Amino acid sequence: MTRPLLPVAADVVTRLAGTPLLVMLDVDGTLAPIAARPEDAALPPATHRAVAALAVMPGVDVAFVSGRAAPDVARLTETPAAWIVGNHGYEIVRPDGATLDDLALGRERDAVAAATRALVAATSAMPGVIVEDKRWTTSVHFRLADPTTVPALRALVERVAAQHNVRVTEGKRVLEIRPHAGVHKGTAVRRLLREVLAEPHRSSALYVGDDTTDEDAFSALRSEMPDAVTVRVTYHEAAGTSAEFELRDPGEVLRFLEWLEQLRGELPGTR
Ligand SMILES: [Mg+2]
Repeated sequence: MTRPLLPVAADVVTRLAGTPLLVMLDVDGTLAPIAARPEDAALPPATHRAVAALAVMPGVDVAFVSGRAAPDVARLTETPAAWIVGNHGYEIVRPDGATLDDLALGRERDAVAAATRALVAATSAMPGVIVEDKRWTTSVHFRLADPTTVPALRALVERVAAQHNVRVTEGKRVLEIRPHAGVHKGTAVRRLLREVLAEPHRSSALYVGDDTTDEDAFSALRSEMPDAVTVRVTYHEAAGTSAEFELRDPGEVLRFLEWLEQLRGELPGTR
């Protein structure tokens, strides 16, 4: 059973008090309320202030983990001191701007590019469908489309993906095509843990996300670090999640981050 994270229980406080603390945050639907068009999404000012404060705190590393392309995540979050995981793990950018790219995915990317061109052509006459080329993956947004057209859109995307030997995943009113290579938010979490936590047994880690793609991250984190805190943003729905805790919406995420900022500020040696 998923436990409410707020108010934060004493055993959870201990699990968030290790140093360093790696704070991994999905962006859309977790920090930023979902917007009708992806380009309209924004971090509420109080949320931006809290994550920016955590990112510069000694002993704390913040990482944004998103399906968006990394430059888009950087634009949206405006937090230069943070790590950025873009494209569900295909891009990992350090706070100093260096990209970790030992991922030999050139051919895979060509296949995604070809599928993207086919999708742009095939959906140009479908009102409300937005094809977003993110270089490593492509999103087909249908939040603005007539719901009765969605089954045909889904069939179209599946057909194009099969032709180009790429795979399809589905999130909240979005279909995504990506390479078959086994890269997802869970592989990104494992990489971040290796990069950031020199001594995992003395460290803490936290992941907050709202969507099915975040489930890979919850599973990876719980298997790598059993004491890590995994949180699904549920929007008051029974989510069927492997996260241990729940927050109900981005407003509760903000309340929790403000609480976390205070907790970490009170630890000895962090100011
Ligand atoms: Mg999300």
